[in-house]
Amino acid sequence: MKPKQVTNKTYGQQLKMGPLKVRQPLPAAALEQVSPFILLHHAGPTIHEPNGTKERLSPHPHRGFEPVTFLFSGKLHHKDSAGHEGFLESGDVQWMTAGSGIIHSEGPSEAFSKEGGTFELIQLWVNLPREYKMTAPKYQDIKSHTIHVVHKADGKLQVRVVAGTYDDQKGPASTFTPITALMLYFEAGAEATFSIPHSYNSLLYVLEGDVEAAGTIISKYNLAQFDTAGDAITLKTFSKGHALLLAGAPIQEPVVSYGPFVMNYPGEIKQAILDYETGKMGILES
Ligand code: MN
Repeated sequence: MKPKQVTNKTYGQQLKMGPLKVRQPLPAAALEQVSPFILLHHAGPTIHEPNGTKERLSPHPHRGFEPVTFLFSGKLHHKDSAGHEGFLESGDVQWMTAGSGIIHSEGPSEAFSKEGGTFELIQLWVNLPREYKMTAPKYQDIKSHTIHVVHKADGKLQVRVVAGTYDDQKGPASTFTPITALMLYFEAGAEATFSIPHSYNSLLYVLEGDVEAAGTIISKYNLAQFDTAGDAITLKTFSKGHALLLAGAPIQEPVVSYGPFVMNYPGEIKQAILDYETGKMGILES
């Protein structure tokens, strides 16, 4: 196996998105997109007092890609224009296919607002290949207990296999193109190797802690991109923390992204805006 080298590292600058503050290491000035991954938002960790604020992203549309939510901590409530509604708890993942278009709202659940606690999530935008951009919207609600956990380094590293395969454990998420998504929880002093096809793009985002890969230290709020020449990533950990390891076969198609729409050509963006404004993606009041 040949180690993949770190070719780029971006820091997730904090920005305001409605009532929420999120870190956005992708896209960034030095890292436009890493196909099939379009965008990565890290919200929190924030500590909420009981009966605290009810920050919520108001209804907004999506088309042409998959918004995937990894809930590391807290409770999330979402609902959409097709009448779907769902609740996520710590460790759950929602793999949503926006496809032809849907309007949804999302935020901490009412129960969470009452109880208070720590809230932390990642939202990842995974691109769809052209032939599936207009597929019917759907959800995969992946409960934490259905995600296989691989224990490495005497239990100092837990690998939760959401998508793809690790150590013969297959993740429950079904994807339109080959993707590996692993939630990592670790203590100091762990080491593990992940084999990843050389042609895949791969990213490591560290939410908490310090990790080394191929001689580069990646600390919290940093996203590392790896080369497509090597076929393995070896991680060493130096503190307690958690991270997200992503890999995927690049989609070799043009990308035009505008707000919540990710299509191939500018005309398709115009059509998406028109379809949204004329109610073709549905209506959602709050
Ligand atoms: Mn959304």
